[in-house]
Amino acid sequence: MGTTRPPLVDSFGRVATDLRISVTDRCNFRCRYCMPPEGLPWLPKEEILSFEEITRLTNILIESGVDSIKVTGGEPLVRRDVTKLVRMVRDLSPDVDMSITTNGFLLAKHAAELKDAGLGRVTVSCDSLVRHRFAEMTLRDALDEVLEGLRVSAELGLTPVKINTVVIRNHNEFEAVDFARLARSTGYEVRFIEYMPLDAQDEWSADGVVPGAEILERIQAVFPLVPDTDEQPEPATPYRFADGAPGRIGVIPSVTEPFCDSCNRLRLTADGQLRACLFALEETDMRGPLRAGASDDELAELARACIAAKWSGHRIGQPDFVRPARSMSMIGG
Ligand code: SAM
Repeated sequence: MGTTRPPLVDSFGRVATDLRISVTDRCNFRCRYCMPPEGLPWLPKEEILSFEEITRLTNILIESGVDSIKVTGGEPLVRRDVTKLVRMVRDLSPDVDMSITTNGFLLAKHAAELKDAGLGRVTVSCDSLVRHRFAEMTLRDALDEVLEGLRVSAELGLTPVKINTVVIRNHNEFEAVDFARLARSTGYEVRFIEYMPLDAQDEWSADGVVPGAEILERIQAVFPLVPDTDEQPEPATPYRFADGAPGRIGVIPSVTEPFCDSCNRLRLTADGQLRACLFALEETDMRGPLRAGASDDELAELARACIAAKWSGHRIGQPDFVRPARSMSMIGG
């Protein structure tokens, strides 16, 4: 199976090929920049897409040119039998690049079955390598479990293993070099993400953002970096170490140097809404038509219309910026 439908193109000529599928809005962590300690009002079960519904929509999107899929949440590994979904999606296409974005807490337990189901690689969120700071940022004392999840994934070949680190001023920016050291000793790729106004608590402020360029400078001062030009273009240029050590470094500067011009992402929320942009104020309901008996052609047309209406870029930092109604864990990071 492959591309048999018109591509998902917006009015600026960008083509959506990278699909993030959120399988749940629930999470077993409470990262301060994402969700309040008491959690959020969770979606009722009947509003959440079944695996069969997700697979049907995914198939239509693959037919429309999607070639990269990230399973996310909430925390995807808290959804029961998520491995089954991975297998169902893999059965749609042997070629699609498929990864999971997880906080890593349950990863060591599930990595082997995920690999067996056809998962290609993992991205693990980890904001600190210091136990007390990790606990302070996630409200879970779980650094050891996360590091074990990373280790097991690498051992199984779920590679390249990537780490996502959200950097927040006066919390963890001092750890950039330690993360680089970890990358060098393990071969992991560490990507530093700028703090975005997508926290449910609405506490974000520009003061908390540490520019990606500053992180690179900190690392460069200790371990010189060179752009990894062999790689496909990504939102952030990946860097390798000039001395040839393993591992890579990247920054995702969504706030200070947005990459909207080359954005190829689309998102399907756990409750079946398609979003053309993380910061979109509008969503396209796929679940309603799907459950009402829409044909594949009709669903593909809805997806095309959603992408066609994608705006040129987010407006963070501009006077007219409006936060989306849903926060990161509800959209699917
Ligand atoms: N639970 C999974 C995880 O931890 O990777 C997947 C979902 S999580 C919402 C996806 C990513 O979004 C994580 O790397 C997380 O750190 C990031 N994230 C959440 N809130 C954010 C914010 N306000 N700014 C930047 N990144 C954020």
